[in-house]
Amino acid sequence: MSTPHVRVRFAPSPTGYFHIGGLRTALYCFLLARSAGGSFILRIEDTDRGRFVADAEQDILDCLEWTGLCPNEGPVQGGPHAPYRQSERSHLYRSYADQLIAQGNAYYAFDTPGELTAIRTSEGPAAAYTGATMRTMRNALTLTQSEVDDLLDQNTPHVIRLRTPDSGDIQFRDEIRTNVVVPAQSIDDQILIKSDGMPTYHLANVVDDHLMEVTHVVRGEEWLPSTPKHILLYKALGWEPPTMAHLPLILSPAGGKLSKRHATKLGIPVLVREYREAGYEPEALINYLAMLGWNPGSDRELYTLQELAGCFSLDRVGSSAAQFSINKLDWFNTNHLRRFSKARIQTQLQPGLTELGVQVNEDYVKAAVNLVMDRIQRVSDILTEYLYLFRAPTVYDETGVRKRWKSDAPILVAAYAERIGKLTSFTDGAVEEVLRALAKEKGVGAGRIIHPVRLAVSGTFKGPSLFSLLVLLGHEECIRRMQRAISALPVPCD
Ligand code: GLU
Repeated sequence: MSTPHVRVRFAPSPTGYFHIGGLRTALYCFLLARSAGGSFILRIEDTDRGRFVADAEQDILDCLEWTGLCPNEGPVQGGPHAPYRQSERSHLYRSYADQLIAQGNAYYAFDTPGELTAIRTSEGPAAAYTGATMRTMRNALTLTQSEVDDLLDQNTPHVIRLRTPDSGDIQFRDEIRTNVVVPAQSIDDQILIKSDGMPTYHLANVVDDHLMEVTHVVRGEEWLPSTPKHILLYKALGWEPPTMAHLPLILSPAGGKLSKRHATKLGIPVLVREYREAGYEPEALINYLAMLGWNPGSDRELYTLQELAGCFSLDRVGSSAAQFSINKLDWFNTNHLRRFSKARIQTQLQPGLTELGVQVNEDYVKAAVNLVMDRIQRVSDILTEYLYLFRAPTVYDETGVRKRWKSDAPILVAAYAERIGKLTSFTDGAVEEVLRALAKEKGVGAGRIIHPVRLAVSGTFKGPSLFSLLVLLGHEECIRRMQRAISALPVPCD
């Protein structure tokens, strides 16, 4: 028998902007599909109109594109199982619910929300939804067939519920958790068709996974409790369930699930768009999320998306929760930046420079990028930490001033400014030579000039090679900055 073509779907609900947990699920779906030469399918699960957020789908599409997780089939690409938005497939689900009713696997229920609340109040929140309780209420299991027919004829509001077995266990294999066994009695008679005629997530999800020939369901652990219901549906409809894999939770660095509230408190973004806006590189975010639950079986950490697709497998996804660390993500970002071309960083930097009104030519930007590219964590650092490459400093780091602007600084800096003003060739070697000669002449260590000069031209006391920085700025600008520092900074008495 030939192995079926692997088809993995990512099935987000557009109920809010795309978060990193969702991106990790999408990534693992993508990697599983690509590693097997299969298809990555995007299906938008938008049957819950009450929680629908109008621009959430676009946000999901933008984030997937930004990170390079391009679906083979989806609402934009189309495909053999179009449409890929459940709201456009609503006509498909009803017949399966009817089939389940005819087989005795589902039933009409007429209980009102008020009656359900009353039960919940008297018997505790969990009680109301178990099968045993439901069967004491107004539904096709407690009413006669003619009573049911009458209620339906009168258009009495109703839902269709799954009939769970009264006894026994529901078992299924999960690729990450191995065997899962759940007593049937603990499962509620899930609503399959709501009173507005729309299917619930459970019915639509199972029907679509079957119709779209999905071979693998990879999703977050929070969907594990729903799986026994889905297994019952597959069984009742006579379908083979896909391979299931539930990904471990992402934990906050402070412990507990990385919820939006939790993350916000710790200053950690949760939305993918926030990472993008904060200047993280998609390659780094993807690489980091790949490692947040999966391991390659070696010490290697840096991977491109393509490399990940070449070695990903579900058996290396751990079952224990993974702790999110923004520091580790920063590490990935720094290391991915090192692999980028200067041209790419330059292109990314340009909009920020334009926004700041900085007017320099391309060669200058290129040289500036070259100077600091090995020191930055994000491209945006160039516009914050290294803004002095484009603008003269207006403030001087206090610690730097205290430590480096000694009583002889104004004299030494002025002397140095004067000498470099006379240079005909303004190169790294020449500015260094002049500085060392001046130090010797004045009987001081070179550092005694290097540090205050750096402070004067950059406003800080750390940075890239001072001589290269001076050459980049050009001698006129250097002299201007040194003179300005001399007049702006008080003369210390040491
Ligand atoms: N629509 C569900 C969600 O919003 C998908 C769960 C699944 O993958 O089955 O995450």
